[in-house]
Amino acid sequence: MQSLDAFAGDKLTALETRSLRRRLQPTRRLEGAFVERGGRRLISFSCNDYLNLSQHPAVRAAAAEAALNYGAGASASRLVTGDHPLLGDLEKRLSRLKGTEAACVFGSGYLANTGVIPALMGPGDLILVDALAHACIWAGAKLSGARTVAFLHNDLADLERLLKSERTTAGHVLVATDGVFSMDGDLAPLGQISALCAQYDAWLLADDAHGVGVLAEGRGTAALFPDAEVPLQMGTLSKALGSYGGYLCGSRAVVDLLKTRARTLVYATGLPPASAAAALAALDIIESQPALTALPLAKARAFSAALDLPPAQSPIVPVVIGSAEAALEASARLEAEGFLVVAIRPPTVPDGTARLRIAFSAAHSDAEVMRLAEVVAAIRRDLAP
Ligand SMILES: *Cc1c(COP(=O)(O)O)cnc(C)c1O
Repeated sequence: MQSLDAFAGDKLTALETRSLRRRLQPTRRLEGAFVERGGRRLISFSCNDYLNLSQHPAVRAAAAEAALNYGAGASASRLVTGDHPLLGDLEKRLSRLKGTEAACVFGSGYLANTGVIPALMGPGDLILVDALAHACIWAGAKLSGARTVAFLHNDLADLERLLKSERTTAGHVLVATDGVFSMDGDLAPLGQISALCAQYDAWLLADDAHGVGVLAEGRGTAALFPDAEVPLQMGTLSKALGSYGGYLCGSRAVVDLLKTRARTLVYATGLPPASAAAALAALDIIESQPALTALPLAKARAFSAALDLPPAQSPIVPVVIGSAEAALEASARLEAEGFLVVAIRPPTVPDGTARLRIAFSAAHSDAEVMRLAEVVAAIRRDLAP
């Protein structure tokens, strides 16, 4: 179709001229935090594998063994023949870690949010979403058909203003936020948000993709706020757990409803047994090695201190550069020095806030962290007006 190709070509050209085109770069993980890209060996500060568990011998062996014993795929939706017993084991372990009655495993974190939110919310309801929340929360909200309004990032006054003005005319209300913000590394004030939710009868969903495994001895962001009541604790198996998949931890009633109504569970194939087995092995390591779970944040703190940035609250430290061109240039300079630090550009982050997003892992040595800090400091000096 000529018009179709012309449409795609024009779109790509427009993105290219604004430095917003993205390209896939084949990248192979090597040992530790190293990767191979373009024939070069780089140390990656762009993996979300915070504990390096995707490379851990026990996690790899668990995945391999499950694939050999049970097959490569799940064969059908969990409600048909795809509910391997490992998924039930995994749900028990996740609910224990999170301190909830039950859990539901999904094919990915993206599928969890796009399944959970529309199963609970619909037309006539209201969803209040932190302006910087992850794309899949927005996608789930859109799919639900509920009215969706952004509140200013981590702004309790703005959230309360919306609850005050909109609560009475809405059916159910959901407040949805990241626990750790994926591109900023800061935490949502879950204690205060949860108090507002109680006051206005709103349900709270916290997406803990970047908190599980690395905050509060691995239990995640909500555990840092003992007073917070977070009835919908969503997360991923794909980051600190080193595997693939997503989950929602919550009450028995909510989980039972999701298992019969969430469309991304009903109409999608179950998680492969190897992914479940890998996540189970990762949970064994996380629950038995609290000191390991603390390392990524400690390394991020050392980096933020070296650069006089606000103290890191999670393993993610943003270094905001500004324009997309400058962020790409900064990333290229780091690559020349042997560091893989991918530039993050709009629309992943707001216009004018393109950045280096630096993700710290237990596999980084202190010396590598300090050398990165030196190179980033030099880049910031050169960029200063
Ligand atoms: C990565 C991420 C997801 C999606 O999880 P996947 O398992 O990769 O699909 C959801 N929410 C947040 C905040 C994330 O960073």
